[in-house]
Amino acid sequence: MAEYEAIIGMEVHAQIITRSKMFCGCSADYAGAPPNTHVCPVCLGMPGVLPVINRKAVEQTVRTGLALNCEIASTAVFARKNYHYPDLPKGYQISQYELPLCRNGWLEIELPDGQKRRIRIRRAHLEEDTGKLTHVGEHSLIDFNRAGVPLLEIVTEPDIRSAEEAYAYVTRLRQILRYLGVSTGDMEKGAMRCEVNVSVRPVGSTELGTKVEIKNLNSFRSVRLSLEYEIRRQIAALERGEAVKQVTMGWDEERGRTVLQRSKESAEDYRYFPEPDLPPLELSEEWVDELRRALPELPAARRDRFMSLYGLARKEADLLTEERAVADFFEAAVQEYAGEPRAIANWIMGELFRLLNTAGLEITEMKVTPSGLAELQTLVDRSTINLNTAKQVLDIMFRTGRSPATIVESEGLAQVSDQGELAAIVARVIEEHPEEVARYRGGKTNVLGWLMGQVMRATRGKANPRIARRLLQEALDRE
Ligand code: ADP
Ligand code: MG
Ligand code: ZN
Repeated sequence: MAEYEAIIGMEVHAQIITRSKMFCGCSADYAGAPPNTHVCPVCLGMPGVLPVINRKAVEQTVRTGLALNCEIASTAVFARKNYHYPDLPKGYQISQYELPLCRNGWLEIELPDGQKRRIRIRRAHLEEDTGKLTHVGEHSLIDFNRAGVPLLEIVTEPDIRSAEEAYAYVTRLRQILRYLGVSTGDMEKGAMRCEVNVSVRPVGSTELGTKVEIKNLNSFRSVRLSLEYEIRRQIAALERGEAVKQVTMGWDEERGRTVLQRSKESAEDYRYFPEPDLPPLELSEEWVDELRRALPELPAARRDRFMSLYGLARKEADLLTEERAVADFFEAAVQEYAGEPRAIANWIMGELFRLLNTAGLEITEMKVTPSGLAELQTLVDRSTINLNTAKQVLDIMFRTGRSPATIVESEGLAQVSDQGELAAIVARVIEEHPEEVARYRGGKTNVLGWLMGQVMRATRGKANPRIARRLLQEALDRE
């Protein structure tokens, strides 16, 4: 049996976060709004109206292109892509064809084994979203709130070689879009949609095989699963001596298989031509340079810096830079803290992530501040509270937003380090538990842990564990 390799190219659509739509003044923030309330004659495609270009959307597309190492056009042209569909009131979509805003870039992906690969970006252009159809029994309902929302399309060269690489590509791309604040990248809400193009060929062959396009994948998981399935299907067809047909398919999540949707349309079908209602976009070099200089540090660079600057392991640095807001929080807390950055990292990756998870909150939505967290760890460093108490204090900070010092003060949580006070408690514990003490003295030294637990309980967890343990040990060994 011949060995095959998969060839994959991806087309990703991402809704751009802007106040207004792409070519009219309607609010683009339509989430949760009743159907057809964010509409006007322009986005409803009424005759005689004229589009106006949304500057912010152009800016966000250029910033994305810069982050993806693209060449930015000095002149870009909008083009009409003609097709008829109920969700497209004008009978055409305004997109970009021959002169997109961004071209010839690349994105570096990282595989789980640490291997890196560059995926070339063919183009990134700006277009408008369509309305949304909902099929109910024999009827179809149409909502135009989404029609005309700015949409960024990013197309790769066929450089991806496996389902795993495709997964690494979309997750990294989404992360960058979120870092840039260009898109929420929320696939479940349709703010980011993927199409994959896939063909297979015998290893060693330099020609591309016939590709199949899988449309409207709405989760990272389905990108991976549909590719795994489709690669197997195509290899099996070739093995049987059949040809792969150039078609568009969908992904049936429930049955775990791709299904035929229609035969593939080609560019000629769309009769692209330059949009006569809009002027070409002229971009000055100064403006593009200004945008380039203002780009935030991107995730891969930030991860590497976290490793070298803060001495974090790769896994930890990955976790802390996954979301820009988490990385910002970490660095703000480290600024306020005099000790080892790792102590702050541990709080975030452990207790804070747990609290956020349970509450279903984003880090930007919580009441704990970077300086609050720094102060909490400082109280631990100074032995004002022990680590267990600090966790309780963080719980309260998370619920109330109060500062750790005031919580420790008002709840009486300060650690008991007073030798005399602790010695008295130890003596009482020993007196109250003669059997355990006897067992310890008989050689069962692991009873010490249990007795320590009694000391902690007697102090409501506030005993300085180091001093308490020493006093307990001494008292037990004194006999
Ligand atoms: P189409 O005109 O059918 O949309 P394009 O040439 O525009 O095709 O490419 C669309 C996407 O498909 C791109 O991401 C490209 O890299 C990818 N692609 C092109 N040819 C192949 C192929 N033979 N196998 C896999 N992917 C391909
Ligand atoms: Mg295409
Ligand atoms: Zn409108």
